Amino acid sequence: MNISPEVGAFAKQMIALRRDFHTHPELGFQETRTAGIVAERLRGLGYTVRTGLGKTGVVGFLRGGKPGKTVLLRADMDALPIQEQTDVPWRSEAAGVMHACGHDAHTAMGLCAAAVLAQEAASLAGNLLFVFQPAEELLIGAEAMLRDGALDALQPDAAFAVHVMNRWPVGTIAIRDGAVMTSADKLFLTVAGKGGHGANPHMAIDPVVATAQVISALQTLVSRETPPLKTAVLSLTTLQAGTAFNIIPDRVEITGTLRCYDADLRESLLKSLRRTAEGVAAALRCTAEVRNAFLTPAAVNDATMAQIGRDAATGIVGADRIIAPEPFTGSDDLAYFWQRAPGCYAFVGSAKAEWSPAPTSHNAKFDIDESALTVGAEFLVRAARAALSSR
Ligand SMILES: [Zn+2]
Ligand SMILES: [Zn+2]
Repeated sequence: MNISPEVGAFAKQMIALRRDFHTHPELGFQETRTAGIVAERLRGLGYTVRTGLGKTGVVGFLRGGKPGKTVLLRADMDALPIQEQTDVPWRSEAAGVMHACGHDAHTAMGLCAAAVLAQEAASLAGNLLFVFQPAEELLIGAEAMLRDGALDALQPDAAFAVHVMNRWPVGTIAIRDGAVMTSADKLFLTVAGKGGHGANPHMAIDPVVATAQVISALQTLVSRETPPLKTAVLSLTTLQAGTAFNIIPDRVEITGTLRCYDADLRESLLKSLRRTAEGVAAALRCTAEVRNAFLTPAAVNDATMAQIGRDAATGIVGADRIIAPEPFTGSDDLAYFWQRAPGCYAFVGSAKAEWSPAPTSHNAKFDIDESALTVGAEFLVRAARAALSSR
């Protein structure tokens, strides 16, 4: 691995920062301690800092010595509602809250890149724009920042971010062109009938039986209505009905999620969802109501930025350690930033060689090989330099 002395000099500090964030994790929109440390560090490095964007988001802006492009570097700061089950000395001290997705690492990498690039700002042609976003796990932090004017009149010319990934060993970097993460909608379905005695179903209108049929029928949206070479995921994940074994309830409440890469496919599946739920429910004398909350569009890597990213990554880990991953069916609301600037979202391998299998993200035993920190920070630094010097 080829880590520059500038990033190497921050390695210890980065590990200490990551462990500190890990010990003190904060849920989405509650990242006040983390944001405070981020803002203080950025100010100390000479950045113009704005805080309280999207409640707890932080932006740091630094003008280079010469005019030029603006590069956006984004990190996320929030943790998850999970009770940590590792025995590392820096395990979470917050009951039921854990950095189980590596955002502690991303924040530390972002701060290291901010420091290294600030050192050379006088000779840089262009501007640095660091974005530390809240509430990525809720998929609503990025948009909240933008609504609060995080980018103001700024039009970034390039954007980069990294996410640690335990599916690959440390010393690898995964980058793909085009769609990387899906759009995400939160779905709310209500099937309503008429409650009554469990022993007299003919005098009631049973929404439970109707719901069973609705759920079965909705399985055809992906299998029969989605073109076989396109991707969609429809998962119905919560179901609430009834209060007692002998009562037919009035209504059933269902929630779930829809994930797509293609915006047109998303629109058509939302229509099909309504048509199918309402139609099947009506056939069984019930009514169905479908609502959706659009959380984030799909995150799409720009081909030019992905190439800049791959070149940077090749310089760090070598061409044979670059992975071209399949698209993920998860979502990341950095998509909102990627809509404002051509971007490259890169994934930094973070599994220790001796882990088999490595703990997965969003698991209570999640951990990373901390040497991924230098890889990620080095990537951000090299990609930013390259984007600023590209024509
Ligand atoms: Zn996550
Ligand atoms: Zn994450």
